[in-house]
Amino acid sequence: MMFSKEELHIMSFSDAPKLEEPSGYEAEECCIICGNKLENLKIGFNEKEQLYKYECANCDAVFVMPKNSARDERVLLKGKERNWPEHLLKALKFPFDAEIIESNDREFFDPEYDGPSLYDTVKVLEVFYSMKYGVDALIRKGRRTYQQTLCFMEAFDTDTDNYEELENYKRWREKYWLSDFIVALTGAMNEVQEQGE
Ligand SMILES: [Zn+2]
Repeated sequence: MMFSKEELHIMSFSDAPKLEEPSGYEAEECCIICGNKLENLKIGFNEKEQLYKYECANCDAVFVMPKNSARDERVLLKGKERNWPEHLLKALKFPFDAEIIESNDREFFDPEYDGPSLYDTVKVLEVFYSMKYGVDALIRKGRRTYQQTLCFMEAFDTDTDNYEELENYKRWREKYWLSDFIVALTGAMNEVQEQGE
């Protein structure tokens, strides 16, 4: 980004032109902080600089970015990055019923597997940080508890705040999440490469 926060604050933005439909398979555009649908955001446009300004009423964030921007081209003018496990632990009301909407590998490859599987309804008891998957959930099926990747589930009751929170998280994750596991792995690989040079 070639502008400072101060410059972006005083830059003027008019109503944004209608956004083009994404072509092919692309993750749905959303608020970079909370995952709110783009259609719920107030969008301004500065034609000369080809910059968009987004204001989100759900999380109060204001950010500026060029179209199809890279990570380092996004400037947050108001609000701060979310700690998702912490946020979800506070925002979700536990326990709640959820449906499993994606299957895990063990279902197919482990004949002994009798844990939760696709389309099961389970109870979500709590959520916590996962290095590999971002946020995992502790769930109960029958008498037993299991660990399950949160984004593989959908809140059963679509009229609840829990449903909205979870869908926003999944939308944000699809578009903006970078696994700490991958970051650590690529970091380690770069180090090995540098040592080899
Ligand atoms: Zn937001």
